[in-house]
Amino acid sequence: MRDQDFLAADFKPQPYWWDHAPPTLPDSAGGVLPNRCDVAVIGSGYAGLHAAIVLARMGVDVVVIDAEALGHGASSRNGGMVSGGVNVGKHIDLDPLQERAMLAEASLSYSWFEDFIQTEGIDADYQRTGRFVGAHCSKAWQTLAKRMAKLNEVADSSAYMLPAEQTREEIGSDYYKGGMVLERSGAVHPGKLHRGVLNVARSAGVKLFGNVRAGAMAKRADGLRLETSRGPLMADKIIIATNGYTGDLSAWHQRRVVPIASYQVATEELGSEMVTQLFPKHRMIADTKRLLYYFRPSPDRKRLLFGGRARYLHHDSTAGGLHLRRKLTAVFPQLAEVKLSHGWWGYVAYLRGGVPDLGESQPETLPGVYHALGCHGSGVVMMSWLGYRTGLLVSGQANSQSAFSGGRIAPFPLYQEKPWFLPIIGAYYQLRDWTDRRLDGKFSK
Ligand SMILES: Cc1cc2nc3c(=O)[nH]c(=O)nc-3n(C[C@H](O)[C@H](O)[C@H](O)COP(=O)(O)OP(=O)(O)OC[C@H]3O[C@@H](n4cnc5c(N)ncnc54)[C@H](O)[C@@H]3O)c2cc1C
Repeated sequence: MRDQDFLAADFKPQPYWWDHAPPTLPDSAGGVLPNRCDVAVIGSGYAGLHAAIVLARMGVDVVVIDAEALGHGASSRNGGMVSGGVNVGKHIDLDPLQERAMLAEASLSYSWFEDFIQTEGIDADYQRTGRFVGAHCSKAWQTLAKRMAKLNEVADSSAYMLPAEQTREEIGSDYYKGGMVLERSGAVHPGKLHRGVLNVARSAGVKLFGNVRAGAMAKRADGLRLETSRGPLMADKIIIATNGYTGDLSAWHQRRVVPIASYQVATEELGSEMVTQLFPKHRMIADTKRLLYYFRPSPDRKRLLFGGRARYLHHDSTAGGLHLRRKLTAVFPQLAEVKLSHGWWGYVAYLRGGVPDLGESQPETLPGVYHALGCHGSGVVMMSWLGYRTGLLVSGQANSQSAFSGGRIAPFPLYQEKPWFLPIIGAYYQLRDWTDRRLDGKFSK
């Protein structure tokens, strides 16, 4: 069969989630962008909305603008896998005290997130499903075991290790060599979640504008002047919540934020019996590879949603989706004939420090401009939380300092506009993942 034959007749090159909760186009404020506000928020994803909600509830006049439809970015495209810190700094060596502080805050962010959904009555198909992290080789299993101890001690993760021979308790596949189960984690429908948070923002009095692109920012005697595609907007403070979509908004931020595309596909309906064979406990699944796969059942448990890296510079939902389908069938050979119903991609953001960051970006040269950036692929909870914390910081009401605030946002060397180095790093990581599996166990005795 040709690759194209694996696309269902009604294949859509857009997020599966948009079938139920598409990003919102219309303005909530009648389309007229004010020329002044207390705080202007750039970006209408989870981070921007949560910053705006906390401010509006304190009586601050907040305007949120987005260059595209509200929720166009990663917040309506992600895998919907939520947890309290399993991915914080997982590929870097952090100072031990700093790591503990971050994990403790990440754990707190998860309780805050669950509480927010419940208190606001957001219907986002949230379930505490738990997560299985598959070890791609025995060495990765050992590393996971060390991390598990830390996660349980500091982040209250309710995690335990699963030996290789019990892998099939968690997944209908022999691809992994055991792994770690985290009970304290779950799943949402990311599109419904975004829509719910947007409605909370609207009710709190936030003024929301889609299709308004932000441009240059400058200090003036009477505040900050933000150029937009609908004319200038004066604000006392500005929050940049553009994550992987930051682009050329500001050269300073662009040099510090590397956008990396994450691809996802949805299969056509497999039936709930097959889905239960693939996911015996209906958990979220990710793995330990440098180029990880992450996958889950759809909330209705009829399809498989599968994500990973596919293309680095020239994006194409269909071609990237077909590439991912080959990875999917490597994990689940029983799905060799499966067709795709949806394929899409979105940007996540990496910072040089390897962890997310919030704070005042350039206090000396452009005071009053703040950021919440750098999800490192895991931001449903974390970017919501960092948005909330940034709102508190901007309002002057934060009564403690976030472990994620300040000091870690440095420029990447030799990077100006285009992340030309990504295909090279991607090829290197792929090779390392492949050799890990090929050589697994060969030198252990
Ligand atoms: C495919 C994929 C799968 C993922 N899976 C998971 C997962 O399972 N679990 C998890 O925790 N995380 C996951 N993530 C990460 C998570 O989705 C993000 O971390 C989170 O949504 C980021 O939210 P945000 O508000 O910071 O940014 P975004 O939601 O990306 O919003 C940024 C917004 O800024 C706007 N913008 C950019 N420039 C301008 C400008 N100049 N003017 C105005 N607006 C502008 C963009 O249009 C965009 O809407 C995934 C991400 C992707 C892409």
